Amino acid sequence: MQPSEEIKQKLDIVDLIRDYIPLTQAGMNFRACCPFHNEKTPSFMVSPDKQIFHCFGCGKGGDIFKFVMEMEGLEFVEALRLLAPKAGVELRRQDPRQTSERMRLQDIMDISRKYFNKLLRESPSAENARKYLKGRGLKQETIDEWQVGFSLELWDGLLNVLKKQGYKEAEIEKTGMIIKHQTRHSYFDRFRARIMFPIMDANSNVVAFSARVSPEKEATEQMGKYINSPQTALYNKSKILFGLDKAKREIKSQDLAIVVEGQMDVV
Ligand code: ZN
Repeated sequence: MQPSEEIKQKLDIVDLIRDYIPLTQAGMNFRACCPFHNEKTPSFMVSPDKQIFHCFGCGKGGDIFKFVMEMEGLEFVEALRLLAPKAGVELRRQDPRQTSERMRLQDIMDISRKYFNKLLRESPSAENARKYLKGRGLKQETIDEWQVGFSLELWDGLLNVLKKQGYKEAEIEKTGMIIKHQTRHSYFDRFRARIMFPIMDANSNVVAFSARVSPEKEATEQMGKYINSPQTALYNKSKILFGLDKAKREIKSQDLAIVVEGQMDVV
């Protein structure tokens, strides 16, 4: 079976659309005010029977893929990647040369997250970072849930990991994870010897990092206690709220959101 077919079988369109907008039961179907055009009386219908949506106002309609493509502004392959984990369907990681640029940037961020997280768990260099996080009251399960990581005090730690996996420097630079040296025409890791907090978008894709100086370097660090990823194709600072991916369902069910200032406050 095609992954897209398997995903369609496993996900219910009503549950999926409910993640975005409130639906009201209307006989066999569900309805809402259309998220794609402005209206006061609902003409947007969802059919659990046919697993499709249709708006009688603007004419938009289709299956779950069509819905997330419209809602999130995605290509089909991107919608596939968004829905696969929700359906518990594993997609084979594509060859970097055969996927869209946006997806490759996403993969770079994901590889970075895993690399930093492994270092925090296993590297002897991360001993002080582990102690610091423990001292701040973070349990191991919290660290795992938020995928906190650690970057080594190296100029090319992450760069080499990514190059080995087939990514080009110019492409990695677009994620903000490496910086081009002004005069030497070479690249180096942006984040070195820091505690790494991945910043996720509302769909739990890593789009950036916020990096805290390693505790033993705090006195001598000149770059600042926290440094963050720059604005990139994946990371629009004014559109991302840290922790929203984890809190969104509860915000909806409680009709209440609590906003705090810092990442550690959220964690
Ligand atoms: Zn509409």
